[in-house]
Amino acid sequence: MKDGNFLKEHNARHLWHPMAHPAEMQANPPDIIVGAEGVEIIDVDGHRVVDAVGGLWNVNLGYSCAPVKEAIARQLDRLPYYSIFRGTTNDNVIELAEMLRDFFAHDGLSRAFYTSGGSDSVEVALRLARQYHKLRGEAGRVKFLSLKKGYHGTHTLAASVNGNANFRTQYEPLMSGCYHVPAPYTYRNPFNETDPARLAGHVLAAIEDEIRFQDPSTIAAFIMEPVLGAGGVIPPHESFMPGVREICTKYGILLIADEIITAFGRTGDWSGSRHWGVRPDMMTTAKAITNGYFPFGALMISDEVAEVFEKDTTGKGAIASGYTYSGHPVGAAAAIACIKETLRLNVTENAAARGSQMFAGLEALKGKYEIIGDVRGGHGLMSALELVSDRATKAPIDKQSIAAVQRGAYAAGAMIRVSGNNIILSPPLVVSDADVNTILSALEAGL
Ligand code: PLP
Repeated sequence: MKDGNFLKEHNARHLWHPMAHPAEMQANPPDIIVGAEGVEIIDVDGHRVVDAVGGLWNVNLGYSCAPVKEAIARQLDRLPYYSIFRGTTNDNVIELAEMLRDFFAHDGLSRAFYTSGGSDSVEVALRLARQYHKLRGEAGRVKFLSLKKGYHGTHTLAASVNGNANFRTQYEPLMSGCYHVPAPYTYRNPFNETDPARLAGHVLAAIEDEIRFQDPSTIAAFIMEPVLGAGGVIPPHESFMPGVREICTKYGILLIADEIITAFGRTGDWSGSRHWGVRPDMMTTAKAITNGYFPFGALMISDEVAEVFEKDTTGKGAIASGYTYSGHPVGAAAAIACIKETLRLNVTENAAARGSQMFAGLEALKGKYEIIGDVRGGHGLMSALELVSDRATKAPIDKQSIAAVQRGAYAAGAMIRVSGNNIILSPPLVVSDADVNTILSALEAGL
């Protein structure tokens, strides 16, 4: 490894960081992470902190998950790559498809389409939604609806359903035919509604209104995160997702659950859809499917949707989507080992218990620090603090101040994530009681 000073000096000279301004990365070099163990990461100066970000919501089992590492190493020796495009397949993708069918049986999802990550999974879900309607003779169903504040990735179609201007404006015009409705976000919403159940009702009415305005026969799918993640951890009221399901069914619109973050235990349930008692028509997964150790994703598809493709005799049911790394044998081996370990450790239980502990701790901090405007979470290990400069006006805190909170927390022992004026906490699902306390006290030091 190159020496620390060399790395700091050279970091942003010849590389551009995702979701960052190149000049800012040159002016303020980021922490250089060179190692990890358990739920901790270690930087180039040897500073060790609890990773309260969990990689990027993906390292659910922590950094020392031997079964996944060994599966990757073994697979690299046996078959490091072969494509599963028409004509060939590999043993791992078959075994994994069976496992995924069992894992998501409760969600009614039985077919897997493999991708190389979250944006890919979303992109292919939206494409297949259009194709599904075409196959059923409803070629006019091409539009998509989604929630403001929702995040669905960066491919053009996925970015078009994103509900945050930061990920859209520089690249507009994006795809036409994508419409956004308000999120069930109690802290700020156009209905001035703070009661979660009543807000869910307002948003559901707005969705139905938009569907009628657009003409239901033009809408292909509604895509939503069961708990909005990157938009600042926004858990809706329990009536919300079932309400969306009902509306989608009523108007023949496919419901795509974007579970890139929520699948595999993060909400304290095996999927976010299951958490809310909803069966989506398709579910996007990625991230924790390999514990973040290998880029991989799977779009899960219901029987009902799959049969429309499988029973097609015109040839138009052929899936004209796929990636070189769809069904990568190493990724599939990692996913098989990861799902086994996820089930063996029964991570949902710990996610729920530690999530409650984290949420209670954050509520306590809100009582002490005026800059905390809102605390969100309470559904597994996804929580957020929204920081404001004035509680009365809810004016967002400035960038420098929230960066200072992050630096303070890092110095005191926890890596936390900043997104806009939110601090997002999504540690590995295997964190202990003591780890959560470390996160909370480091955060308090930062505050
Ligand atoms: N959808 C959701 C809900 C996400 O949180 C993300 C990434 O954070 C994506 C899609 C995009 O996934 P990726 O970054 O793997 O392309």
